[in-house]
Amino acid sequence: MAGLTCGLMLARAGRRVTVLERDGAALPGDIDEAAADWARPTVPQVQHAPGFMALARSVLARRLPDVLDDLLTHGAREFPLREWIPSTPAGADAIDRARTDELISLGCRRTTLEWVLRRCAAAQPRLTLVPGATVTGLMWRSGPVPRVIGVRTRAHGALRTDVVIDASGRRTEVDRWATDAGAGFPGWDEHCGLVVYTRFYRVRDMSAMPRMPRGNATVLVLDGCAAYAFLADNDTVAVVLARHPQDDDLADLRCPAVFEAAAAAVPPLAPWVDPTRTEPISPVAVMGGLRATMRFPLRDGRPRLLGMHAIGDALATTNPAYGRGASLAMAHGEIVTDGLAAEPDSPLRQAELISHRLTALTLPHWLDTVRHDRGRISLWRATLGLPRTAPPPRMSMPMPVAAAAGAVDADIWVRVARAVHMLDPPQSVFDHPALAARICDLDPPPLTWPARRADLLAAIGAPPALRSA
Ligand SMILES: Cc1cc2nc3c(=O)[nH]c(=O)nc-3n(C[C@H](O)[C@H](O)[C@H](O)COP(=O)(O)OP(=O)(O)OC[C@H]3O[C@@H](n4cnc5c(N)ncnc54)[C@H](O)[C@@H]3O)c2cc1C
Repeated sequence: MAGLTCGLMLARAGRRVTVLERDGAALPGDIDEAAADWARPTVPQVQHAPGFMALARSVLARRLPDVLDDLLTHGAREFPLREWIPSTPAGADAIDRARTDELISLGCRRTTLEWVLRRCAAAQPRLTLVPGATVTGLMWRSGPVPRVIGVRTRAHGALRTDVVIDASGRRTEVDRWATDAGAGFPGWDEHCGLVVYTRFYRVRDMSAMPRMPRGNATVLVLDGCAAYAFLADNDTVAVVLARHPQDDDLADLRCPAVFEAAAAAVPPLAPWVDPTRTEPISPVAVMGGLRATMRFPLRDGRPRLLGMHAIGDALATTNPAYGRGASLAMAHGEIVTDGLAAEPDSPLRQAELISHRLTALTLPHWLDTVRHDRGRISLWRATLGLPRTAPPPRMSMPMPVAAAAGAVDADIWVRVARAVHMLDPPQSVFDHPALAARICDLDPPPLTWPARRADLLAAIGAPPALRSA
């Protein structure tokens, strides 16, 4: 995703671009074939939930509007979140339209987005896509700061270039490649503490379905597990359940019947797995081993490497449940494109500008997801009876409390939505003592869980002893 979006932006800015893609599979004939049969072993997450935040949609709208149009033509849907602002005493009308103009999420399966991007790339002048080309290392010129001058591939020889973009995703080997060049590319890393299970359904009659509480999303973090649903393109919906990696009692969620029984036990999810209202169109996809990793292209404010920029998941991964990865991947492409245009002649200034901007955008979101994750993981561990872990870092406002306050204050609702959708930095809500004080004065309604882990266990037939764990 990062490679193709960045490649399209660069080609349109007048550069010649070669995209090397390890996956050699041919482009499927249409989006349904893409969803059903496009084997992407190197990108297993394409079979998972497609929560595209407003930042992703905004980058597409301003940089690749034809891609956005093509997605809408192929059944993707936009959800202007202004229509979801709760009616509160201050009233939604009091909210300045400029604050909600971009607050639009995109409902689209990941396979649909990838299919549309591949087609646009194939038609894009100055862009050459080489499927089946695996990068195995970098070529570089030594110096005080090593300068990358190309890449080596498994079966396509060496390729010299003035700039290398590493968009090879969460399994990038950039650490090893940079170490070979004498630079290193260290980072921070911790586990996300969840295993996700996703199944897609097609809705029989969308007009008969309940409205999701936040545009195309229902997001429920429960006492010991989580439940989500995202509306996507062409009346499809992704239903997602997530458990703690040590919660073996929920490991059978991979079985469709167990998955459906458990999802049906969460009232807001139940209509989306009701066989009279939806039909399953995929198996249950499972993904664990999820990690939040942040790499730092700068050391003491100076670039570690010249002529190479890591973007998308190669730069940072976050817990997928926040839906931030696609937005960051696309925004990174924009930063690289603008940075190369602003500093065309100096690799050093290019690297400084781009690395600073990539880090400034990404690090706050990465830190934010990690601290919210630590809070959620300690809650889940307590429910499971596991030993306590370190307490989460301090913040002025936990996400569920801020979200609950939004139900009674439209201004806070918009602030939270803008931060969650990455149009504003997370600190604008979660590290804002004055806002925290205001939220306390509001006395938001108490937090309630529409279901608990024990309800899921009961629904899937776990013995009572396990349910009370
Ligand atoms: C389970 C799950 C659910 C997610 N859900 C969401 C969500 O709802 N919303 C959201 O915003 N984000 C979500 N994400 C995150 C999102 O998928 C990633 O942030 C996004 O895919 C990053 O794009 P990328 O291009 O950097 O990496 P990828 O999409 O992984 O693409 C990397 C590409 O590089 C290719 N490649 C790898 N190695 C090489 C090599 N050596 N040579 C050549 N090519 C190579 C791969 O084949 C692949 O095409 C989810 C992630 C997971 C794991």
